[in-house]
Amino acid sequence: MYHKLLFDATFWTFLFGVDRKLAEEVQAEKCPSCGCHLHRANYPRKPRGPRDLPEEYRYRLSFCCARDGCRKRVTPPSVRFLGRKVYLGAVVILVSAMRQGPTPRRVRELTELFDVDRRTIYRWRDFWNELFPRTTFWKVARARLAPVCKIVHFPRSLLEAYVRTGDDRDGWGNLLEFLSPISTTKGLEIKVSDDRGRPAEDASRRC
Ligand SMILES: [Zn+2]
Repeated sequence: MYHKLLFDATFWTFLFGVDRKLAEEVQAEKCPSCGCHLHRANYPRKPRGPRDLPEEYRYRLSFCCARDGCRKRVTPPSVRFLGRKVYLGAVVILVSAMRQGPTPRRVRELTELFDVDRRTIYRWRDFWNELFPRTTFWKVARARLAPVCKIVHFPRSLLEAYVRTGDDRDGWGNLLEFLSPISTTKGLEIKVSDDRGRPAEDASRRC
C-alpha cells in the first residue's frame, strides 16, 4: 500500500519543492568555512527508479563558496537522493521495506517496475542493517523517536511509523525529510570510537 505515490508524477515535483527549501536554508547560512556567499554548483545526476521523472531530477542541488582560495563545496540534505545511490531515496526505502514484509510477490513486482537487480537489493539490505544503525545521525535521532516508534527493522519500522496510507504524501515527505541528513556524507559519518575500520568519507571536498 505504500507504493502508490511513487507512481504519481506530482509526488516527485512535491519532493523537489522540499529539496529547494532545504537548499535555500543552507544557502542563507553562507559558507561554513569563511562566511562568504555560496554559488550554485549543482551535481548532474541520472537517477534510476520511476520513469518520466521531472527535468529537475537530472541534478542534485549543491553550492560552492564564491571566494577564490576557499571554494568549499556545500551540499544540502535531500529528500530525493540518498547520498550517492543511483536510485531515488523513496525507492531504496520502499523496496527495502517491502522485503521485510510478508508480501514477496509485491517485492518482485516493484523490483521489475523500478528495474532493481538482486545485488543492488542486497547492498541496500547491508546499508540498513549494518551502516545505518551506526551512523551519528541515527544515534542522535533514535533518542527522539524511541518513545513513539518501536524500531525493529530498518527501514520498514520507519516507513510504518511515518506513512499511514498509500497516498500519504505528507507522511512520505516527513519520513524523507527526517532521513535527509544521511543524504550528505557528513550525515553518514560513523563515530571513530565505535567504528571497526571503516573511515568516514571526506566531507570537505572542494569544487
Ligand atoms: Zn568559503
